[in-house]
Amino acid sequence: CGIVGYIGELDAKEILLQGLEKLEYRGYDSAGIAVRNADGVHVFKEKGRIADLRGVVDTAVVASTGIGHTRWATHGVPNFKNAHPHASNSQRFTIVHNGVIENYHHLQEEFLTDVPVKSDTDTEIIVQLVEYFSHEGMTTEEAFCTTLSKLEGSYAIALLDANDADVIYVAKKNSPLLLGVGKGFNVIASDAMAMLSVTDHFIELHDKEIVLLHAKSLQIKKLDGTRVTRAPYKAEIDL
Ligand code: GLU
Repeated sequence: CGIVGYIGELDAKEILLQGLEKLEYRGYDSAGIAVRNADGVHVFKEKGRIADLRGVVDTAVVASTGIGHTRWATHGVPNFKNAHPHASNSQRFTIVHNGVIENYHHLQEEFLTDVPVKSDTDTEIIVQLVEYFSHEGMTTEEAFCTTLSKLEGSYAIALLDANDADVIYVAKKNSPLLLGVGKGFNVIASDAMAMLSVTDHFIELHDKEIVLLHAKSLQIKKLDGTRVTRAPYKAEIDL
């Protein structure tokens, strides 16, 4: 399973799809991408191979921000409905997630008894919680951090907010995720291989850090808001 993301100036679809192809070796049962442009967030997903996903991606949709996912099902069988990305009920927030949320059922009972869910995944609870806390009046960053502070288990996460084109929210705990730094763009990936064709400069992300990823800048923070500075390293990988 794996995650990719791109924010920049080029069309994101092909960068995401090629990135996911490079992550195929990790194993998966479904795949999907979500891209954001002036019309909003567009989700394409499919059970099966990246080749199947390519068949359902609308090539007419051009967008320079996006996230992608290959799923290895842990909660909910491999099918279209359970494939990522998952959207909140208002469609404002869209998430991809690798890992397992051990207390998702407890969180659902505590906060989401009035919120209908569309899938059988632990992941959907994360995105519905972000929406729940944003309805409580929090900013997206606050809602994201509040949600993360309640999760038990493992996650690598990328989140889009349909109301803010300029950012991908990123977080990790006990699941791999790297930031890739480019000129005029930034990327994320479960491993460097997935994005080596666009950049060889990466920044490590540590557990319980979040990232506000913009096209030309990024901010790493701890869950309590403390800023983290970490320099990129150059990946030396023989292809
Ligand atoms: N637990 C999530 C699911 O079953 C994510 C699985 C993964 O890591 O791909 O949908």
